[in-house]
Amino acid sequence: MNRLDTDVLILGSGGAGLFAALHAKAGAPDLDVTVAVKGLLGKCGCTRMVQGGYNVALAPGDSVERHFMDTIEGGKWLNDQELAWILVTVARERIRELENELGCFFDRNPDGSIHQKAFAGQTFDRTVHKGDLTGIEIINRLAEQVWARRIGRLEDHRAVALIKSTDGGAIAGVLMIDMRTGEFLFVRARAVLLATGGGPTMYRYHTPSGDKTCDGLAMALGAGLRLRDMEMVQFHPTGLLAGPETRMTGTVLEEGLRGYGAYLLDGQGRRFMTKTDKRAERATRDIVSRAMFAEMRAANTGPMGGLFLTMAHLDPAEVRRQFPGMVERCADCGFDLVSGRVEVVPTAHYMMGGVEFRPDCSTALEGLYAAGEDTGGVHGANRLGGNGVANSTVFGGIAGDTLAKWTPRHGKFRDPDEAAIETAVAECRTPLAKAPGDLEEVREGLARLMWDDAGIVRDAASLKRALAGLDDLDKTLDGVGVEARDLAYNLAWHDWLNLKNLILVSKVIAAAALARDDSRGAHWRADFPETGDLATSAFTSARLVVGKIDVAMRPVKFTRVRPGETLIKDTAAE
Ligand SMILES: Cc1cc2nc3c(=O)[nH]c(=O)nc-3n(C[C@H](O)[C@H](O)[C@H](O)COP(=O)(O)OP(=O)(O)OC[C@H]3O[C@@H](n4cnc5c(N)ncnc54)[C@H](O)[C@@H]3O)c2cc1C
Repeated sequence: MNRLDTDVLILGSGGAGLFAALHAKAGAPDLDVTVAVKGLLGKCGCTRMVQGGYNVALAPGDSVERHFMDTIEGGKWLNDQELAWILVTVARERIRELENELGCFFDRNPDGSIHQKAFAGQTFDRTVHKGDLTGIEIINRLAEQVWARRIGRLEDHRAVALIKSTDGGAIAGVLMIDMRTGEFLFVRARAVLLATGGGPTMYRYHTPSGDKTCDGLAMALGAGLRLRDMEMVQFHPTGLLAGPETRMTGTVLEEGLRGYGAYLLDGQGRRFMTKTDKRAERATRDIVSRAMFAEMRAANTGPMGGLFLTMAHLDPAEVRRQFPGMVERCADCGFDLVSGRVEVVPTAHYMMGGVEFRPDCSTALEGLYAAGEDTGGVHGANRLGGNGVANSTVFGGIAGDTLAKWTPRHGKFRDPDEAAIETAVAECRTPLAKAPGDLEEVREGLARLMWDDAGIVRDAASLKRALAGLDDLDKTLDGVGVEARDLAYNLAWHDWLNLKNLILVSKVIAAAALARDDSRGAHWRADFPETGDLATSAFTSARLVVGKIDVAMRPVKFTRVRPGETLIKDTAAE
């Protein structure tokens, strides 16, 4: 097997991974830092896909306390309050760093200050953006800076297992597949950052990039780590519905459209959000998605089974000016966003849940760090639009700072558990020894099962059905082989590995959802529609114990504010 040593190995090249690489290199220039990524650096993952923008309290009248309270209220009091506080405070530094050090240029007001737009669920217009294609600006500038430094790159390299040291006490490195050749590579590292970005691509309609298949979460489970809040899967209300034959179906039409005043209509052209929430279309994603799901179940739908988004009542020139990317995306699929109606459906967008981690991004496994969408705790039960990319860049930078300090002092090259490497290689090779079969059937089965039984609305019966169905799908997948003649860019093999991870993480979602017997944020139990007592809130904490999922409920610590209280000061005085 090929082997390689690097001081710091970063898995993933989204906002979290690239920020970590830059900060690690800036803090300790002598460290050998390597970014390994399943695609091409700067061209894959979801940070590049960010449309709407980046939440940060900058404007007069706004405050970090207000941003914090919106995040906690949105998260239905399940957030780790220390992590949420870091998010809102460090976001102010990070946005300046993005502009002044990395070269991003965000939209301005006529007076030269940064323009901030409205996003749902927030009490202030605080979303910084570059038109409606903010992520391309952020990731291009980040990638340029990484390319300009002596940072190693392993592109088209897929991480498949976190390998511990022989004594099991720390991480020793990561087993990878070089997708260009199909060969295995073991990368030994003094410290590893997990930044592979979650991604709920197991649902029928979903927004994240295809390279995201919960690999980091599956690897973390394999290494014995705990994942929290896994029942909290966010559905974005406005996924494009362009028919089953195009991958454009499920891709997102940004939240700013509803923030700007777009209406949602049922199949008969009637607004329905006004009867659900006083904020109507500007209610949080969970509320809007659920109201849409109810209309869909009642068959008040358009020709493809979705609902309609319209901006026809708004100034057409402004809509074109403010949302050029969205107008073009809709036109590409035959819809007129400016003066017509676009058929939309709720679409799985983001996982609030992820690896349990500390404010310095360390985890329970020595030498392993985590940041970005792979982590849980920052958002609680619901992520506010605009807090996702803030999360990955804020904590990616912090992870880099920590790695720069920790690695030279404490990081060691450790001997890996060779038996664990052999087992992981054998598991990956499982489908290569079998006759090629139909992966599409498994993928379709998974998408249908998760959408119907563990999706926007769940109950105990549906979740038990999901868990049993997932076991069956897992067994079916184990029996499906893939063509093994040529392993270079063998996408069927990688699809098999993707499905294996998605099924495992789907089981954790269903098990955590079954354990939470109340409804809050993104998690709605039809059999427990009430939100439990906020003051005794607990979060789910799941791990794998000899192949079985174990879910514990752990109390939330209200370290800064208790339910019923607020940190918002009298803003008139600010
Ligand atoms: C369409 C869309 C629009 C969005 N709009 C917004 C918005 O307006 N505002 C906002 O705040 N958030 C938005 N988000 C969410 C936001 O994109 C994410 O929260 C954030 O970018 C995640 O950053 P990350 O670095 O954790 O992961 P990502 O940017 O997704 O990066 C993950 C990286 O890990 C790599 N990877 C995955 N698996 C492996 C593996 N096995 N081995 C090696 N590498 C691996 C991927 O290839 C990728 O490079 C949006 C998301 C989507 C999908």
